[in-house]
Amino acid sequence: MELRELQKIVDEFINEIGGYWEDPIILARMIEELGEIAHVLQRLKGFRPIAKEDSHINFEAELELEIGDLLFVLISLANKRNIDLEAVLIKVIEKYRQRDLPKWKRILK
Ligand SMILES: [Mg+2]
Repeated sequence: MELRELQKIVDEFINEIGGYWEDPIILARMIEELGEIAHVLQRLKGFRPIAKEDSHINFEAELELEIGDLLFVLISLANKRNIDLEAVLIKVIEKYRQRDLPKWKRILK
């Protein structure tokens, strides 16, 4: 499935549930989801202890879900701003290739 198709599916879903949030709310949700990813990663990597009541949680599976939550919110922001994520991702990869790849190759030698 292509990103454009995913953007359309998210758009249809959001319209079914009453429409898009205001941009600051979308941004707040993105920050919330990032925090949830940080919470999971810290426990997966042992930087924070896992509470007894959370010992049953599969943190690898949680990480996937939280990344999915963040992707959903990111797609909703892109949709609301009429941003074609596939086109912009291709541009960004090309930018990194041109600007950063020679630098990384020098550093990794
Ligand atoms: Mg979440």
